[in-house]
Amino acid sequence: MYCPSCEHRLVAGQDRCDLCGFHMGKLDARYGSQIMAMDQISDTTHFLRIHDRDHLLDSMDAFEVQFPQLYPAIYIAELPAETKLPEFATWLINRARVSVLDELRPSENTYLFVIDLTSRSMTITCGYFAEQFVSENDLRELLEDASPYIAAGDLREGLGKLIENLRLILRRNYRLLLKSMKPGGPLATRDPGKPLMDPTE
Ligand SMILES: [Zn+2]
Repeated sequence: MYCPSCEHRLVAGQDRCDLCGFHMGKLDARYGSQIMAMDQISDTTHFLRIHDRDHLLDSMDAFEVQFPQLYPAIYIAELPAETKLPEFATWLINRARVSVLDELRPSENTYLFVIDLTSRSMTITCGYFAEQFVSENDLRELLEDASPYIAAGDLREGLGKLIENLRLILRRNYRLLLKSMKPGGPLATRDPGKPLMDPTE
């Protein structure tokens, strides 16, 4: 996870940036300190049509079959104009609990896509566990591909591309995933009953 103020890399559990002094308390003061319940797709504006939502849920299910320990989640809102999207997304991933996620896949396993309909922009925030498998370049690529669709209001296409491209990136980074599945690796300890499928098959 990166500091939403200066983009300095933070380590798991660190709630204060040692470079710029930014801390989670500032975000709690702005957005609230209560845990927020969230769905796999939280569309607070009801912007998505039902069949578009179903289409995206199907893509997310297919993603989970390949990567059961990782979890994409979507949050769509009309945020106040002064909202700094990276800050809001950092706050959300720290404070949200996705209803279908159990203890084995907390928000640290999540790739959170936040869409702001006010500015027609989006950002991606990764939990500490999920971020090990994507580089900064990967995230930039994902945003560049999807952003024109989001700006045009085509969320089905934009989010569909995001999920599919993330799946391809993770497949490309599969060696890294394999290593972490070995006994003692982070994926091995996470969910032993549900091994990763080989996404290259
Ligand atoms: Zn900072």
